Amino acid sequence: MSKGRILIIEDNMDNHELIRFFLERDGYDTFLAMTGPEGVQAAIKQLPDLILVDLALPIMDGWDATRAIKADPKTAHIPIVAVTARTMPIDRSRALMAGCDEYIAKPIDFGALLRVVNRLMERVNRADK
Ligand code: MN
Repeated sequence: MSKGRILIIEDNMDNHELIRFFLERDGYDTFLAMTGPEGVQAAIKQLPDLILVDLALPIMDGWDATRAIKADPKTAHIPIVAVTARTMPIDRSRALMAGCDEYIAKPIDFGALLRVVNRLMERVNRADK
């Protein structure tokens, strides 16, 4: 049984494959969007349980994609984790201000990523009941 459905918004295929590998091995289903607008559309259409967003994305960056997802009442409740190489304190606060629930730095510590995802998913599952 799937632990949940996670949308990965990431334009780098190597990063996507790695993130997907660790999440699927842990029991999640994943699907991919490669640009900001594609990510916003996928969020609305597929209503994932959780979203991982890269901040440096083509067309619309991850901050704007997060704001768009959090501004839509259909998707505002979905937890969003920023996964990014932008690791200055200002980048972190910009991500949280845009509406991201958590922030994970690249290179990714996959143990830490899974702990964050599992913790947010527990909150999602409690809210369902
Ligand atoms: Mn990127």
